[in-house]
Amino acid sequence: MDYRIQDKVAVVTGGSSGIGLATVELMLGEGARVAMCGRDRDRLARAEEGLLTAFPGAELLAVPCDVLDPDAVSTFAEVVNTRFGGVDILVNNAGQGRVSTFADTTDEAWRQELELKFFGVIHPTRAFRPLLERSEQASVVCVNSLLALQPEPHMVATSAARAGLLNLVHSMAIEFAPAGIRVNSILLGMVESGQWRRRYQAQAGEGESWQTWSANLAREKHIPLGRLGRPSEPAHAIVFLASPLAAYTTGSHIDISGGLARHV
Ligand code: NDP
Repeated sequence: MDYRIQDKVAVVTGGSSGIGLATVELMLGEGARVAMCGRDRDRLARAEEGLLTAFPGAELLAVPCDVLDPDAVSTFAEVVNTRFGGVDILVNNAGQGRVSTFADTTDEAWRQELELKFFGVIHPTRAFRPLLERSEQASVVCVNSLLALQPEPHMVATSAARAGLLNLVHSMAIEFAPAGIRVNSILLGMVESGQWRRRYQAQAGEGESWQTWSANLAREKHIPLGRLGRPSEPAHAIVFLASPLAAYTTGSHIDISGGLARHV
């Protein structure tokens, strides 16, 4: 596949695991120069090592950074600019979901969830925007969830925050369009990743394999395609939206849910 992003500079937040890591892999395979971040230094270093083994000589920069720390994000942007001299693509991917109902979500939990979902996008977008404005083909892709349109009561805070993020993506798309920056998102159903592996470890019965546990989960959730997504599947949608192939698309989203979306 030629996404026409060769030599472009891409930043992927949360690039050390799951969907972010798959996106970095795909971008490096397409010849892009990539900067990624994550909080856990060991996980980030392992991901970097694996990527450099798979893509010897790749232009890859791995920087420990918490997207909720605005100073750390500003420093990340400076480091990327020093190394690559600009940025063409920003993928706001870092984050995780919160399982809780209205009854058991405290004020503190609400604040944490709203902070993660909003400022996890706001800080990197603000820090990288001046660099994106200098690009001829600038775009931002936000990794969002189908919960934005189809809330689940057991993920009440995540669902509400995701709806807000979908709205924010539209506002940014309109505000940034005159500067030539496109802003889009993907809406995920359930995709195999670190998050689901952690839930499997916490919830699986004695001796129950990942394959059996995840197949049962897909059946319980009535996913029409009958399985969880693979990280490479959202990665392709992210790279497409970020690429010049989607040059006339902004303020839009792609559904990657295996048919889980019930709305028309
Ligand atoms: P993973 O747990 O596999 O990966 C999450 C990545 O984000 C890791 O690299 C993690 O590294 C990083 N991260 C988390 N918080 C921060 C932070 N504050 N600052 C910087 N990096 C951070 O999960 P997924 O690949 O599944 O998740 C990717 C995105 O997709 C998330 O936003 C998630 O909410 C969203 N999503 C995923 C779904 C799924 O089914 N997988 C469904 C709906 C949405 P570290 O912990 O070291 O910081």
